[in-house]
Amino acid sequence: MGRYLGPVCRLCRREGEKLYLKGAKCFTDKCPFERKGYPPGQHGRMAVRRRARMSDFAKQLRAKQRARRIYGVSERQFQRYFDIALQRRGMTGLNLLQILESRLDNVIYRLGFARSRAEARQLVTHGHFTVNGRRTDVPSMLLKPGDVVAVRPGSRKRKYFQETVFEWAEQHKPPAWLDRDLENLTGRVMRLPERGEIDATINEQLIVEYYSR
Ligand code: SF4
Repeated sequence: MGRYLGPVCRLCRREGEKLYLKGAKCFTDKCPFERKGYPPGQHGRMAVRRRARMSDFAKQLRAKQRARRIYGVSERQFQRYFDIALQRRGMTGLNLLQILESRLDNVIYRLGFARSRAEARQLVTHGHFTVNGRRTDVPSMLLKPGDVVAVRPGSRKRKYFQETVFEWAEQHKPPAWLDRDLENLTGRVMRLPERGEIDATINEQLIVEYYSR
């Protein structure tokens, strides 16, 4: 199955928490989760009670789905990342999170050049970014320390990058593993993120357990 293209606010309701998938809307009172915090569907309200007594498998599955939805990654791609994480040295769970964080769309979002990962993904596919000076339209590209991401010179004059992104980026500082030059709309990957610099609510241990069944 390909990438999920349905209404993303349902995903927050399914996971029982705000996943911040819609950028600016997530910070307003228009966020549907604020009004309907129970799972979607006809029996959504009933499911709230069922959540309290989830099996171990259900917990592992939800942890995996939640991470997959936060990063906007398909099932197949996520499995592939897990296989790469297994082969790398060190802790598989942390390796997996570092791989997800080093995706180009995530780096652009973390740099503050997009208001959500979905928006970053679209900007990349529309050819607004370069990596190490070369234009790319592949949002899943994995970046390494030293790689430089930049808004393509031809795109810099757009109102989106001059105003919308500028205002957003000023309020959203990048994490320490990324170095941002907001004036020139460029950013550099300094190193891989440490665990403390990645969403603390993701339970990578449960994800490893899910794939080790
Ligand atoms: Fe989730 Fe954002 Fe939609 Fe709220 S607005 S339900 S946080 S994606």
